[in-house]
Amino acid sequence: MSVPRVRKRASLCDRDPSDPFRQAVELAQRGRMILEISLADLEAAEAAVGLFHPTAWHFRNARDEARRAWDRLRAQYGAGPLEVAQQELPLTYLTVDGRSGRAPFVFIPIMGHTYRAERVEGTALAPIQWRLTRLHPPLEDGPYYVCRLRDGSSQCDCAEWTFEIAESATPHAVCKHLAALSALGWL
Ligand SMILES: [Zn+2]
Repeated sequence: MSVPRVRKRASLCDRDPSDPFRQAVELAQRGRMILEISLADLEAAEAAVGLFHPTAWHFRNARDEARRAWDRLRAQYGAGPLEVAQQELPLTYLTVDGRSGRAPFVFIPIMGHTYRAERVEGTALAPIQWRLTRLHPPLEDGPYYVCRLRDGSSQCDCAEWTFEIAESATPHAVCKHLAALSALGWL
């Protein structure tokens, strides 16, 4: 069995918010999420109303603006550091207002991908449960359900957890989804 990829080390969250590396990572994670949300919005709009509807133009402009912002970040920090930042645990998340009175959407960055995070009703055995849906590209085997169990242990139904971690002898090993939610203090 391979060793889980998530590294155990001091968290960037513990650094001062003014720390330059922490700030760069946070900007990179936010920029990446905004870009992926704009891509998903555009695809949904084009599928719903067609390529030439004003709504599609609106979302295309939003996508272009997000891409320009991402390019400015890349010019400022370089492509390599931006990629490194995506491998860090989430330092930030985004909340987007739900339409027509629906609850806000919450997005978190996990290893370079943006996931919609929804708290779902827990059970007696698993009181804390989250549903994670990857935006772009969508997961073929998702969404994933990430839980804190009553006995304090945690589990996820992704392939990494199911086939590597659950069968390994490493205590308290976590997949990237568990690590991300724990880093945010949500699990
Ligand atoms: Zn997982």
